[in-house]
Amino acid sequence: MRIIGVRRIELSGRFPLPKEARSEISIQHDDHVEFFTDQDNIMIMKYRERCCICEENFDVTDFKNRHICSECLDGIIEKC
Ligand SMILES: [Zn+2]
Repeated sequence: MRIIGVRRIELSGRFPLPKEARSEISIQHDDHVEFFTDQDNIMIMKYRERCCICEENFDVTDFKNRHICSECLDGIIEKC
């Protein structure tokens, strides 16, 4: 990880997300982001649909109006 900008938090709790950060993860106006925390840090990631079974957000596709990752889908196909 590297520092991509420093911003002051406004009284309302808002802060501008640096343009460099937005372009780095290809987010635009009206996109959604997710916030993750550990004890001392906050990480912001571009929101992606999560698998309804394992909550993974990688390689997720729609299957019968549900979001499911390829690994879970393969597991279901093996059981059939
Ligand atoms: Zn899954």
